Amino acid sequence: MTSDYEVLAVRYATKETKASEVYLNFHTYGEPDADLVMDYFFWVVRNGDRVVVVDTGFKPEVGEPRGRRMTCPVPEGLGRVGVDPAEVSTVVVTHGHYDHTGNLDLFPTAEVVISGTELDFWTGPIARRFQFAQTAEWSDIWLLQRLDAEGRVRRINGSHQIVEGVTALEVGGHTPGQLMVTVQGEGAPVLLASDAVHYYDEVDLDRPFLFVADLPGMYEAYDVVARIARDDAAAYVAGHDPLVLDRFTPVDDSDPSFAVRVG
Ligand SMILES: [Zn+2]
Repeated sequence: MTSDYEVLAVRYATKETKASEVYLNFHTYGEPDADLVMDYFFWVVRNGDRVVVVDTGFKPEVGEPRGRRMTCPVPEGLGRVGVDPAEVSTVVVTHGHYDHTGNLDLFPTAEVVISGTELDFWTGPIARRFQFAQTAEWSDIWLLQRLDAEGRVRRINGSHQIVEGVTALEVGGHTPGQLMVTVQGEGAPVLLASDAVHYYDEVDLDRPFLFVADLPGMYEAYDVVARIARDDAAAYVAGHDPLVLDRFTPVDDSDPSFAVRVG
């Protein structure tokens, strides 16, 4: 029997933005624009048996030209929470956007888990159209493609147990095969929503995010998140919301915005 997992959210970058750059058709809500912060995270899921990393951030040379400020580059962040990439058994790539697919070269032996629908989309022709292409980093996609050819990628669909106590749930919406990850955490179940929910207000106010592949799918994903949070009493973690740092316990009290323990 597998013991419960410790789950960490590690912030690696940040950006100042506006509500009108975050919510789809924000002008239709009839509210003045507002300043917002978008934080960037990756997530660590571990117990005595294994380490699973959920998403792998971006490299400085990919994020900084896009106006994102690194707060802690991913290799450094992994080191600070005691993760040796060589010992990571599994990396989950929740979707193909550049802020989730970088640094895969850090993990020499990990199996990479991604939705088959998602991988096929980003290696296919529609992903080359501008509104999709601007959200991807091609060298990351090519690496994913190469790892797939080498047999290191596990393509999944629907609901799929990755390892005991860690399940991926494909919801789509934001991207064609967007995944969430549920974890049997130490205190309670944890739902890592990744970019199925960037900000808690998307679910609380029912406001879709600006980048969307399938709007009905995005609304349905919000319903799935709300149901899991309610029925399973799961601690749920939005993908880019600074509130994550307020809602959970800092890993390092002297630097509370570095990382939090969510389960
Ligand atoms: Zn993202």
